[in-house]
Amino acid sequence: MIELKHVSKWYGSFQVLNDCTTHVEKGEVVVVCGPSGSGKSTLIKTINGLEPFQQGEIVVDGMSVGDRKTNLPMLRARIGMVFQGFELFPHLSVQKNLTLAQVKVLGRHEEEAMHKTRTYLDRVGLLAHQDKFPGQLSGGQQQRVAIARALCMDPIAMLFDEPTSALDPEMINEVLDVMVGLAQEGMTMMVVTHEMGFARKVAHRVVFMDQGRIIDDCSKEEFFDHPRSERAREFLAKIL
Ligand code: ADP
Ligand code: MG
Repeated sequence: MIELKHVSKWYGSFQVLNDCTTHVEKGEVVVVCGPSGSGKSTLIKTINGLEPFQQGEIVVDGMSVGDRKTNLPMLRARIGMVFQGFELFPHLSVQKNLTLAQVKVLGRHEEEAMHKTRTYLDRVGLLAHQDKFPGQLSGGQQQRVAIARALCMDPIAMLFDEPTSALDPEMINEVLDVMVGLAQEGMTMMVVTHEMGFARKVAHRVVFMDQGRIIDDCSKEEFFDHPRSERAREFLAKIL
């Protein structure tokens, strides 16, 4: 579903991604971890074309992201992206936040969009809050709205960039529970997170990054039980 081949990216003379090769199969959950500044956010943003890259190739569902002929806005609409900071429109109700892109980008009829909106708000347990504004919700609730918004677009895959790291501890689980549910239903997911409990529970593979490179890319069993690189061992010792 997602394939990165020898992807490199520079900011000026600083190389932020160094020859990154990995893949996410359909229905697979890949957790990406590594120290701050190692390039995790950049890597995940190159997949839906939010960040250009200079070398290598990225193919999503048969479409080459770097190819100028690819319809990037349409590809992006089909890849759900959930960030650390929710990124909801503060001046729109929860319901409007969910229907907007369905109508504007996918061209759905209002009625069908409303149906999807209710389905997914219910799914994340927030149907009763549909007329509120994001600022009236807790961080955990806002992040669940952001996930529901992505799901309304019928994504072929979901990308998460540290979705729980801006949340108070008591709200982390309500968001992780929604993500675990998605994983168990077979959603294709790439998740940047340091929540190793989540990784142990649902990840198929773990990608470990350091200084722009993919240092380890292996099954979660191998990553947790016998990490190959010294740097992954040091990293795990610090966060576990
Ligand atoms: P991570 O998500 O693993 O913390 P990032 O992908 O955000 O890492 O950043 C990787 C490196 O790239 C960091 O050293 C960061 O300072 C640098 N970086 C990120 N965005 C930019 C930018 N727009 N311009 C220059 N350097 C950047
Ligand atoms: Mg980051």
